[in-house]
Amino acid sequence: MTQTISGTQARRIIDLRSDTVTLPTAEMRGAMAAAEVGDDVFGEDPTVRRLEARTAEILGKEAAVFVPSGTMANQLAIRAHTEPGDEVLAEANAHIVYYEAGAPAALSGATCRCLTGRRGIFSGADLEAALRPADIHFPPTRLVCLENTHNRGGGSVWPLTEIAGVATVARQHGLRLHLDGARLWNASVATGVPERAYATHFESVNVCFSKGLGAPVGSALAGSAEFVARARRFRKQLGGGMRQAGIIAAGALFALEHHRARLAEDHVNAQTLARRLATLPGVELDPASFETNIVVFRLDGVPARDWVRILDDAGVRLLATGPNLVRAVTHLGVSATDIAAALEIIKDSLRRNGRS
Ligand SMILES: *Cc1c(COP(=O)(O)O)cnc(C)c1O
Repeated sequence: MTQTISGTQARRIIDLRSDTVTLPTAEMRGAMAAAEVGDDVFGEDPTVRRLEARTAEILGKEAAVFVPSGTMANQLAIRAHTEPGDEVLAEANAHIVYYEAGAPAALSGATCRCLTGRRGIFSGADLEAALRPADIHFPPTRLVCLENTHNRGGGSVWPLTEIAGVATVARQHGLRLHLDGARLWNASVATGVPERAYATHFESVNVCFSKGLGAPVGSALAGSAEFVARARRFRKQLGGGMRQAGIIAAGALFALEHHRARLAEDHVNAQTLARRLATLPGVELDPASFETNIVVFRLDGVPARDWVRILDDAGVRLLATGPNLVRAVTHLGVSATDIAAALEIIKDSLRRNGRS
């Protein structure tokens, strides 16, 4: 993300904190300004309806519902799949567990039990081992949630065979499956596996338009027509019924049609960043383990939060995701040139902080 800050010496800020910091392009703004709109709560916004139909089509599902955020999409899925007291199984670092403010308990009365994955990925055998027999003491397990790509796993991609293995075990035990596919677009671009080939294993899928695709607002929850109708009622209940939402849906639709293939550039930039970071003293990472647009590394010596603050002053923004963990995410707003510039600033900052 290249932005200028006001002051006597305006300079470029290279923002690698997240792929959510992208700003709408001029063309996208044009599409938004020109969007045909109506009252979507009455089902009368043609742009929202087009976005929902197109999303469902890409994911090979009957229907989809447009929502303000990925958190709402995930939480509507949990609400629609479970009853209060039910148990949801998710990986310990899953966004649903880690970053959604306790919503499964607060909004659905669901408890989460966590499986420990390897970079967010677990197997059918892991699921099998976690399941308990039906017993009046246990909360009934209803739903299994996977995340592809896995955010805290460093943008890791679930292999299709691993998903199929988990799905087989889930089906044997009558469990439902939800996919948090906030970055499913990245997984598909990285592997060449179409989104629908991933989605077919799940009853419901969340996808985000406001991450790497670069739209200002919005996500969608897809599934069967019956499931989406139920989710739509809960969206209204949570205050997520939006009126002339075609204005933002147009940005999402534009992003869907024009910014998916270019995610490959973000993956190349992330790989360059990871390879160069690996050569720096005090930085620990295995570049080969990053397949998409997220790079996570361990920082030796300086506490991550302190270093990130220092780096911020130097014009590069990264995110501290643990006491000695730092995350960098590439996106629409950073070019290969920005990555090269960021690396110089990072190198310099590590040197100044006694790292070489
Ligand atoms: C960003 C993200 C979400 C949704 O986040 P919102 O900020 O609520 O849009 C969900 N899952 C994953 C894996 C994410 O990275």
